[in-house]
Amino acid sequence: MNIENLKKEILEKLEKSVNLKDLELLEKDYLGKKGIIRNISSSMKDLDVQAKKELGIKLNELNVFLEEKIDKKKKAIKTSETKEREEKEFLDITLPGDKVERGHIHPLSLAKKELEDIFTFLGFSVVEGPEVEDEWHNFDALNFPLDHPAREMQDTFFIKQGNRANLSQKEKFILRTHTSNVQTRYMETHKPPIKIAVPGRVFRSEATDARHEVCFYQIEGLYVDKNVSVANLKGILLRFLQEYFKDKNVKIRLRPSFFPFVEPGFEVDMSCTVCNQKGCSVCSGEGWLEILGAGMVHQNVFSSCGLKDVTGFAFGVSVDRLAMMKYKIDNIRWFHSGDLRFLKQF
Ligand SMILES: [Zn+2]
Repeated sequence: MNIENLKKEILEKLEKSVNLKDLELLEKDYLGKKGIIRNISSSMKDLDVQAKKELGIKLNELNVFLEEKIDKKKKAIKTSETKEREEKEFLDITLPGDKVERGHIHPLSLAKKELEDIFTFLGFSVVEGPEVEDEWHNFDALNFPLDHPAREMQDTFFIKQGNRANLSQKEKFILRTHTSNVQTRYMETHKPPIKIAVPGRVFRSEATDARHEVCFYQIEGLYVDKNVSVANLKGILLRFLQEYFKDKNVKIRLRPSFFPFVEPGFEVDMSCTVCNQKGCSVCSGEGWLEILGAGMVHQNVFSSCGLKDVTGFAFGVSVDRLAMMKYKIDNIRWFHSGDLRFLKQF
């Protein structure tokens, strides 16, 4: 066996070793108990004394030389592995952190909250009720005749219940078309004086456009006691609009109108705050903006709810519309568009 060739062979393999596992294998193959060098050693017994001595010295030198070489390479690999790991796991604690964007209140929630605050200040209790309602509480108790157009399929979302003809009015369910269902429920279970504000979602089965959505928010007011008059209604509405638009110069006017649950009923207009009634595109040059519906609660409604010898007023206004007017939003569909360019402005 030529020791020099063996050395050369081992050095070539050492050169090709790239990790600790390769090196361990190399060590085992050449220096281990059953390795090649040990094999050569044990086959020396047939040689004469001089040759045995010379080969022994050479093998020993080769052994020491290889151990050193392998050791050195092991250290080099370990150092580079550590360095690589440190680079990969390096954490610069002086870097600024990732900025977490804060959310904020949706404009409709903002408007709803402001309105609730105003009505609480005016002495109203804020009350909520079911969005899925029976026809009796949504229509019948509110003096809607059976053939009223609001009860048509194209105006209201009906809940599928098989053959509805066999069900009573209190068993037929719909999505409420106004928050007035809470008025009837509240009057059934409470004694006057009643002074409540009812915010909530309502649903109408109609085509959407810039001013109409199938789902929108309303806030409704109801005041029932002895001797409640139109003057009280006017006073509350004026104060509420002045507070909401933060403008003491807001004026209102009442025009006669018809809603089944009130008598007399009114459309309420508010003076245009954009042009101070000089006439502008927002108010179509009129100086007035149609803003809400109101009236004195119909005596039939009181009877349905088991109340007598009382008077009261009720009004309802779209929260979406109030928010649109206050923030000068030109399309109701922005509210549910999920467009952050719009939402981030509030
Ligand atoms: Zn105007």
